Amino acid sequence: GPSSESDAQAREWLAGNKQQFGHFIGGGFTKHAAKSCFDVSEPASGKLLAKVSLGKKADVDAAVRAARKAQADWAALSGHARARKLYALARMIQRHARLIAVLEALDNGKPIRETRDIDIPLAARHFYHHAGWAQLSESQFPDQAPVGVVGQIIPWNFPFLMLAWKIAPALALGNTVVLKPAEYTPLTALLFAELAKAAGLPDGVLNVVTGDGSTGALLVEHSGVDKIAFTGSTAVGKEIRKVTAGSGKSLTLELGGKSPFIVFDDADLDAAVEGVVDAIWFNQGEVCCAGSRILVQEGIAEDFHDRLRRRMSKLRVGAPLDKSIDMGAVVAPDQLKRIKGMVEAGVKAGAEIFQPEIEMPGSGCFYPPTLMSNVQPTAAVATDEIFGPVVVSMTFRTPDEAIQLANHTRYGLAGSIWSESINQALDAAVQLEAGVVWINTTNVLDAAVGFGGKKESGFGREGGREGCYDYLKPLVWSKLGERAAA
Ligand code: NAD
Repeated sequence: GPSSESDAQAREWLAGNKQQFGHFIGGGFTKHAAKSCFDVSEPASGKLLAKVSLGKKADVDAAVRAARKAQADWAALSGHARARKLYALARMIQRHARLIAVLEALDNGKPIRETRDIDIPLAARHFYHHAGWAQLSESQFPDQAPVGVVGQIIPWNFPFLMLAWKIAPALALGNTVVLKPAEYTPLTALLFAELAKAAGLPDGVLNVVTGDGSTGALLVEHSGVDKIAFTGSTAVGKEIRKVTAGSGKSLTLELGGKSPFIVFDDADLDAAVEGVVDAIWFNQGEVCCAGSRILVQEGIAEDFHDRLRRRMSKLRVGAPLDKSIDMGAVVAPDQLKRIKGMVEAGVKAGAEIFQPEIEMPGSGCFYPPTLMSNVQPTAAVATDEIFGPVVVSMTFRTPDEAIQLANHTRYGLAGSIWSESINQALDAAVQLEAGVVWINTTNVLDAAVGFGGKKESGFGREGGREGCYDYLKPLVWSKLGERAAA
């Protein structure tokens, strides 16, 4: 109907590729590996979208070789020349925004409203922003050189936006890339490779090898890779840190979170309720910096929970291409099972559960918006990342107690504070152990601001000047050192 985005263009693109994909290496697609491939399906319907090749050692080797071959020439271009290519990529994203947005919604299950208004425009903005850094690279980083060949591994929650966060700064500063998208959601990365070629990006500067964790591990272990940039779970991040230790590879890790959402008793409660909607039901809660732990001051807790339950009863869950929905499907059956299991364990551990009586799609990977209150701070639902549309809530009496609870986590990605007193909010903000703290808002990101974690949420920054340094290494400094030593 008129309230649904048409999927015709995306189906046409898939059909044009016979729903089969090889890897993108050295400026072209390899033959689809029918004997070694995996299915990519729509989480909302279970329907097959494409068969995608599972990258083996020979594929990773070929991609690293292509990236190495291209790197010196790419780095030797003037910053201005590299900037022109990044501007071309940004414009290409804008020109094909509708196709990318629909394909992303089909592949991931997230609402078209979000891919159309958030994921894809922010990805284009990331390339525009980093085109600026490319242009300024000689003047802003005169004593730095590119790291070289970068292996980039990304998750499935924001497939296209995470691709932009990784590729744009790497290319801007003269590196070449081998990207390994997540196995649930590789399609927009393959489309991007095609668009990059059409935008005139030189062969080998960007390579995409599809596959699962075994393909990612091959990239991590590869001796021809100078740096690994990983976004994903803390468990895999720790493994990668072990494997790369002592290898001489640079490493940045953007990992999980369990970010606190603190509501003081003087907060604007309706605004805070809308904040929770953004914090945990945006992108089905599959957001690394999701405000997944509400800490609410005791005196207002009941009122706040009442308002929140009323708001939850107005949320709409449905098909990703339906423009009127608030939440789509979670990414895959495995993930749905994980979420259900964690919630059941939480209920067994004594938490109270609220799920609104709203219409839910009959089949597909859908999970309702869920509030768990009366949660013990030590319960698994309070300490572990659920990565789904489930928020837990606990109460506190004093600001000190709020900070203690907030920091009682192995993670340190983000935090959100709600109060009408700027003094109270700032006092709390500086005490939170988190890469970013928002006051009276949440999930605000920008290409110009470095994003990243503390504690077990990882290290390194993406965005802005800080993010640039993660794709550079000191140059003049080491030469002076050599000369001094001689
Ligand atoms: P995951 O760790 O399972 O997978 C991430 C990527 O790593 C995938 O491409 C996967 O194929 C690959 N991989 C798996 N095992 C590997 C191995 N041994 N070696 C190399 N690569 C391997 O995570 P996921 O389930 O895809 O993503 C969800 C996680 O990502 C959540 O924990 C979330 O918080 C985190 N995340 C963090 C950020 C951030 O910026 N901090 C952003 C988005 C998502």
